[in-house]
Amino acid sequence: MSDKRDYYEVLGVAKTASADEIKKAYRKLAIKYHPDRNPGDKEAEEKFKEAAEAYDVLSNPDKRARYDQFGHNMGPQGFGGGYSGGGMSMEDIFSHFGDIFEDLGGFGGFSGFGGNRARRGATPRGSDLRINVKVTLKDVVHGVTKKFKINHLVACAECHGTGAKGGNSYKTCATCHGTGMVTRVQQTFLGQMQTQSVCPDCHGEGKIITEPCGHCHGEGVERKEEIVEVNIPAGVSDGMTLKMNGKGNAARRGGVSGDLLIYVTEERDAELIRDGNDITYNLMLDFPTAVLGGKVEVPTVDGRARITIEPGTQSGKILRLRGKGIPSLERGGTVGDELVNVMIYTPEHLTPEERAAVEKLRDSHNVKPTEDAKTRIFSRLRHIFD
Ligand SMILES: [Zn+2]
Ligand SMILES: [Zn+2]
Repeated sequence: MSDKRDYYEVLGVAKTASADEIKKAYRKLAIKYHPDRNPGDKEAEEKFKEAAEAYDVLSNPDKRARYDQFGHNMGPQGFGGGYSGGGMSMEDIFSHFGDIFEDLGGFGGFSGFGGNRARRGATPRGSDLRINVKVTLKDVVHGVTKKFKINHLVACAECHGTGAKGGNSYKTCATCHGTGMVTRVQQTFLGQMQTQSVCPDCHGEGKIITEPCGHCHGEGVERKEEIVEVNIPAGVSDGMTLKMNGKGNAARRGGVSGDLLIYVTEERDAELIRDGNDITYNLMLDFPTAVLGGKVEVPTVDGRARITIEPGTQSGKILRLRGKGIPSLERGGTVGDELVNVMIYTPEHLTPEERAAVEKLRDSHNVKPTEDAKTRIFSRLRHIFD
């Protein structure tokens, strides 16, 4: 433990450095020693880990205060355990990247150490942006176009995303002749072996900036507010994610932009209930209409519709309004229906006159269900209980 370098020294900042200065210093080192940029370089890997450990402590006010007081010898526990056992895990290290690279594309995903997925010479990719969108049932039925103001990173207008002043203050890297890769020939007991790795001078970019763009400080990106129009197709449902390619954050120095991800949330309708591509409406039908038949109005997504109630309509009957549901998202899919679920309302308060009228009916033979009617109606209702 005693041969450890001072954390402030590791990051190259003063003991009085602000949180922002610490973050900036770490960001610089993390980019410089990033394993994807230094594949197979043990020294870079050690520096990368050392910087991550220093940042982990100095970026946390509690840990920093303890470190200032006690240094590396923090008593039996050390810094939250784990440090004495060989440093932080890669997961720990990358967990900080979300906050130090939040506004920088190109460092979203990592290959980790020793992985063959190293992004050698790969084009950097900007991070994705996420927005939430609420849709009504009507939006779901018809589809909708919504406008959003997004604040994202775009290619710097001054340097056209190159990071070089005027877009041309760079020269081709002499080490790799612009390829971004260097080939090393080694003598091994198996004979000559060629290994390719990212050029250490240009970090795979193939060019060296001679004068950085003053507008974007050489990053090649700047923040911009933009209005985007999102087309939400009919048939979407809660929890779906739509994607607009390239509308996320631009990558540093001319990489590929990330995507804009749109998370769909459905707003509940006051009367209509979505059930897959069908819409259900629970109709409370007054008993005289159920008995005598008539016309009633029911809500649909496009306003009210008049429907016919046959005389002798039972509770539990389902009336189908064809095509008044939700279009399928799938190509060639059909449009759902609106299902009107009939329930007969039993009056709860009656005037003496109404009561007399109903009492008159009570002993009438036809108001009592026959055995035959029970069998017939219950068998039709069986699907509800199944
Ligand atoms: Zn610029
Ligand atoms: Zn190079």
